[in-house]
Amino acid sequence: MKLECPYCWQHYEINATDRDQDFVCLCCEQTFNGKDALLLPESGGGERKWCRILLAAVVLLVIFNLFLWWQCGGQERKTTNATEFSVSALPPSLERDFAELRERQTRLEEQVRALQEELRKLQLPDGDRRAAE
Ligand SMILES: [Zn+2]
Repeated sequence: MKLECPYCWQHYEINATDRDQDFVCLCCEQTFNGKDALLLPESGGGERKWCRILLAAVVLLVIFNLFLWWQCGGQERKTTNATEFSVSALPPSLERDFAELRERQTRLEEQVRALQEELRKLQLPDGDRRAAE
């Protein structure tokens, strides 16, 4: 519970069981009995608590903003990488080269397939062909 010094209005937090005790105000050094002092409602005396809540909210907001900033930074970094990648991989000339290479690859694959088949024919005369079929 909270008491107010009747002389200088300094606020003190005390135990409810100490209400009947005499207190010496640390501020004005006057002695007063707890019963004579004004009892402050908890909500009215919660100014400091409210300040703490506000501070916590601000800290949380700052952390949240930092988190958002960090996330945006990560996304920016990713976007930059993607741009770099597309820039280095997709100029028209390179694209043409790539298409040519793919064509060549397809042709080579066909050749390999033909060679493989030839090889199979050579490797599988009578006995092995039966096993394969
Ligand atoms: Zn006082």
